[in-house]
Amino acid sequence: MTVLAQPRTYEVRTFGCQMNVHDSERLSGSLEAAGYVRADGGVADVVVINTCAVRENADNKLYGTLGHLASTKREHEGMQIAVGGCLAQKDKSVILDKAPWVDVVFGTHNMGSLPSLLERARHNDEAQIEILESLEIFPSTLPTRRDSTHSGWVSISVGCNNTCTFCIVPSLRGKEKDRRPGDILSEIGMLVADGAIEVTLLGQNVNSYGVEFGDRLAFGKLLRAAGEIEGLERVRFTSPHPAAFTDDVIDAMAETSNVMPQLHMPLQSGSDRILKAMRRSYRSEKFLGILDRVRAKMPHAAISTDIIVGFPGETEEDFAETLRVVEQARFASAYTFQYSIRPGTPAATLPDQVPKEVVQERYERLIELQERISAEENQKLVGRTVEVLVATSEGRRDVERGRLSGRAEDNRLVHFEVPEGSQIPRPGDVVTVEVIRAAPHFLIAAPAGAELPVRRTRAGDAWDRAEAESCAVPATPVDAAGRVSLGLPTIGLPTIGLHSTAS
Ligand code: SF4
Repeated sequence: MTVLAQPRTYEVRTFGCQMNVHDSERLSGSLEAAGYVRADGGVADVVVINTCAVRENADNKLYGTLGHLASTKREHEGMQIAVGGCLAQKDKSVILDKAPWVDVVFGTHNMGSLPSLLERARHNDEAQIEILESLEIFPSTLPTRRDSTHSGWVSISVGCNNTCTFCIVPSLRGKEKDRRPGDILSEIGMLVADGAIEVTLLGQNVNSYGVEFGDRLAFGKLLRAAGEIEGLERVRFTSPHPAAFTDDVIDAMAETSNVMPQLHMPLQSGSDRILKAMRRSYRSEKFLGILDRVRAKMPHAAISTDIIVGFPGETEEDFAETLRVVEQARFASAYTFQYSIRPGTPAATLPDQVPKEVVQERYERLIELQERISAEENQKLVGRTVEVLVATSEGRRDVERGRLSGRAEDNRLVHFEVPEGSQIPRPGDVVTVEVIRAAPHFLIAAPAGAELPVRRTRAGDAWDRAEAESCAVPATPVDAAGRVSLGLPTIGLPTIGLHSTAS
């Protein structure tokens, strides 16, 4: 790979799911390995759009953004625009037909070739399009530029062997490809060595992991092996498929202390008739049975889900079934979607598409029910002590309001108060607080005493180092004892000895 003499700046814009966000870290990493530097405000020399084809209006969003970029490009000599991801994989040359000012179109299977495609487009003064139909190199072997020092994502598989009729993923990401456990564990080890204390294992269907190398129990084994990694405090995963969810995974979750008491498992519909039409091979009874068994082993597990309202042919009775299952499941939260036609999916051509206003009305009823349940479930936590991993984002604004935010072990969002004069945690540190108030989407917490109990972690140290490297003043001015400084901001933080944070 040629390293550029003059560093060009880049910006990656991500539309879509967590998988896309993770892919964007790989894109950034590949560009930086090739000599590009992240644009620090202003117009970037290279704008990469990492697209999603799953969500509604993905096309409009992409072409709207490209329309805006056309005029920016006219005013900035040498600027390049690249479009990658699922929509690029689907639309291929259509993107260049509709937006001829785009320089590079690349697919989901060849993210690593972005720097060379950009270079070729510049050299030949001609748009480059490269879409591979299958994976040549596992994306996790590409360099990464992580957005968070305390948390990282690790792909365990890509693609999916299921054929849900509403989903475009199988045709865009291909059949499931599993990474070898040794590669996954060594990537986790590298993230931990880099300061991460939380890792989320990613796959379209994580609990069918192992199908490619013939080990049905591979996912549970992987969780247990991650439990052995010194310094790794929190392990999460997304998303499992209910049909493939086996009890050995529940046992592994319950018996591995760093696997968090949290499960995100898509329901999609509570109606067995609609599940069949969606070609999802479990039924509502099986789904609820899994939840019962998870809660029997992990009583405090927070369970969340995805639900689609208004799938073609959905009747009021079918929808009532969804409401019944939601009521029974007691989800901590739910991502709810209104069904919309995704061209290229089997459901797009089904008869009995549900009228928009009917979908909207059902959707509102579902939201109302789930909001009530989320509020009730969160209310149960008032008075409980939770450990919160302090997040990076919003920190500065929160400090002005005298509070910070982070995630509890069960992944609930917690805003916590920081008493004046108290020790201030860094992003990546862990605080122990008591929940004092609950809302449907977050908890408010406060320290039990006058001081905020802060456990300084390796992740917090890594955040300090990253800040120092970028020559930034730490977001929160603190004195040598880690307390809020009332005088001038202190540049740099006291040296903290590394300590093991293994549980
Ligand atoms: S399990 Fe179904 S919804 Fe999920 S990625 Fe595979 S086909 Fe799509």
